[in-house]
Amino acid sequence: MISQYVFGPVPSRRFGRSLGVNPLPRKTCNYSCIYCQLGRTQRLQRERKVFFPTDLVVEDVRKVVEDEGDGIDYITFMGDGEPTLAANLGEMAEGVRTFWKGKMALITNGSLFHDEDVRRAAMFFDVVSPTISAGDERTFRQMHRPLRSLTFDKVMEGLEKLRKEYSGEIWAELMLVEGVNDSLASLLNIRKVLRDVSPDRLYVGVPTRPPAESWALPPSRSSLRQVFDVFPEAIDMTEPEEGPFLRNEEEREAELIEIAKNHPLREDQAFELLSLSLGLEGARDSILRMVQEGRLVSVDYGGTTFYRVPIERKEGNEENGAID
Ligand code: SF4
Repeated sequence: MISQYVFGPVPSRRFGRSLGVNPLPRKTCNYSCIYCQLGRTQRLQRERKVFFPTDLVVEDVRKVVEDEGDGIDYITFMGDGEPTLAANLGEMAEGVRTFWKGKMALITNGSLFHDEDVRRAAMFFDVVSPTISAGDERTFRQMHRPLRSLTFDKVMEGLEKLRKEYSGEIWAELMLVEGVNDSLASLLNIRKVLRDVSPDRLYVGVPTRPPAESWALPPSRSSLRQVFDVFPEAIDMTEPEEGPFLRNEEEREAELIEIAKNHPLREDQAFELLSLSLGLEGARDSILRMVQEGRLVSVDYGGTTFYRVPIERKEGNEENGAID
């Protein structure tokens, strides 16, 4: 099934075979992170609102669960931007809970937990995975380029409240970018704020797919060694993930496009996905055609070719802290 709201299951290093749920339109976010694999945020979103009807999203999840239930480890709300901006996030999660008894996770930039309604929505999830990649205001703004109204203190206060009220697990994700947050001083600041949130797990990642800013590079191996000295408990996610991406043979080409909207595919992953049903020659022809038709673009990053869907341009920013 091809759905605007549901994608996968796709392999995830944190969540096994993860069925992604997308509760909002493409690249709807209150941040414009320098490392974002969806490109720059053209229009920062200030207000929480209902983007997609709850019933339609829940129904699409139900259909995939009926087909794939045994092959799903987690249902993961994430999407094409910041899922907590969806004002009906809690309703959607509650709706999925009526037929899904397995694990559910929320991947979030962590910016909105100062809002009580967002903390209430979090209660439906077994795991909340927020980004914590800065230990001070300056680094926070450099990394995430958020709405002006979102300060580092406000975001951290929200996360601390979440920790106090939420009984599930918090798996923090620390994304590292060379020259921005990988100095010893930055790492020690991050360690300080992590103590207040006290995550159950800490994952350390680096950009492994083409980022919004081409200069947003992974730290060197020697810097990364320092990172793991400062955070000996951290789980290393600095290597690209492996594993085949899909299931349904007839729909592979269309599903490749759906996956590439959220998740730029390495060349070998795109080939692997298509060659299962089209063969190697067929996979090559298919990718070439999708690129010629403008449905896919190829991007070189770190010596590797990735495929993603073209990024739409929108006019004007609602509020813009730092996009250049
Ligand atoms: S990485 Fe996440 S939080 Fe940052 S701009 Fe992209 S979608 Fe938003």
